[in-house]
Amino acid sequence: MAKEQEEKKKKIPAWATRLPFGLCKRYGITLPDNATPRDAWNALKGRGISRREVYEKISGKEKPTGSGNKGVKEEQTKESGKTVEDLVASNRIKLSRKADKQGLTNLLNEGDEEVKDTTVKLFFDDSFGYDTKGRGYENFSPNDNHVHCRYVSVGDDPLKQATSSAVYHESWHAIDFNYGGIDRKEAYEYINRRKSEIIEEQGLPGYIKWINSGERQHEYAQKTRLTHTYVASNGKTFMETLLDETKGKGAKWATEIQERYSADREAFIKENGEEGKMKAVNKWGDISDILNGLTRGKVFVCAGHARGYWDKFGDARAAEAFAEIASAKATSPESYAILKEYIPNTVLTFEEIYDKLKSGEIKARRVE
Ligand SMILES: [Zn+2]
Repeated sequence: MAKEQEEKKKKIPAWATRLPFGLCKRYGITLPDNATPRDAWNALKGRGISRREVYEKISGKEKPTGSGNKGVKEEQTKESGKTVEDLVASNRIKLSRKADKQGLTNLLNEGDEEVKDTTVKLFFDDSFGYDTKGRGYENFSPNDNHVHCRYVSVGDDPLKQATSSAVYHESWHAIDFNYGGIDRKEAYEYINRRKSEIIEEQGLPGYIKWINSGERQHEYAQKTRLTHTYVASNGKTFMETLLDETKGKGAKWATEIQERYSADREAFIKENGEEGKMKAVNKWGDISDILNGLTRGKVFVCAGHARGYWDKFGDARAAEAFAEIASAKATSPESYAILKEYIPNTVLTFEEIYDKLKSGEIKARRVE
C-alpha cells in the first residue's frame, strides 16, 4: 500500500467503518448480509449522504469511547435507585472495549430522564440485558435475550440522537418480549405441541409451510408478546388497537406523510445543512415505518423494512409500533407528537401499558 494511502487509512478510526451500516439502518436501507462498508456508502450515496461530509463532521471530535468524557454525568435514577452502573455490576451488560460502559450510558442519558429510569428499571426485572460486543446493527435477539449495541457514541456526534433512539427502540423490543403472556418455556412447549399436531395432520410439507409463511412466529408472538397478550382498558390488545386504527388508511397517509416529510426535509436542510436530513428522518422515521408495515412494505417514505419482513413475521407490525412509540417518547418529542396525531388510540394504549410496567403492575415472566 502506498504510504499516502496508509496515512489516509490511519486517520479513519476503526469504529468509523461500522458507521455506514448504522446510517443505512437509520435511513431504512437494507443491505445484503455480506455487504462491505463500501457497499453501504454506495447505498447511502443514493440518499444524498456522502462519506466525506460525514467524516468531516466527526473528525476532530472526541474519541468515541471511555475516559475522555468526564463531562457526562451518571445520575442515580430516582424511581428505582438503579443506574446503568448497577446494570453493569449485575452482569446485565456484556461490554466490549470499544463500546464501553460510558458509551452506552451516554446513549441512554441522551433519552428523556424519566423514560431512561423506567427502561433501566425494567431491565432489572428479568434476565435480559445489553451486549456491546456484537457486530452489525443494533438489534434485540430473543435467542440470547440481549440488546446488541455495536455503535456507542459520545460528544457532538451527529448520529448520537439516532443511535440513542435505536438503543431505546431495541430495549423496548426486549421489554415487549419479556413482559408478556406465558413464559418462554411454556411457549416453546406450546410451539412443539403445534409442530407435532401439524406434522400429524398435514405432514412435512404442511410443517414447512407453517414455518415459511411466518405462521409459527405469529403464533409464538401471540402467546408471548406483551403487545399481543395484554388486554387494555378499551378491551383490546395493543395489536388489535393498532390494526383497528390503521385499517384502510395506507393510501391517504402515504401521500400526506410523504408531502409533510419532504417539506420538513427541505426546511431542515436550509437550516442545518447535511444534518437536516438526519433530523427529518428522526422526526418522520417512526410513522414512516408504521406506514411501511401497514402497506406491507409497499410505501417507503424515509424508513421501513425489507420486502417480505412484514409477512414473514406476522407480529412485526405491533412489535415495531410499540418499539417506535417508546423510542419516540424517549428521544424525539416531534416524532411522538406525529404518532399521537396519526395513531392516538395506539399511543394511549402504549401509555397505559407504560404506566403499568412502571408501577410494577405488569411483571416480567421469568424463565427459571
Ligand atoms: Zn424494530
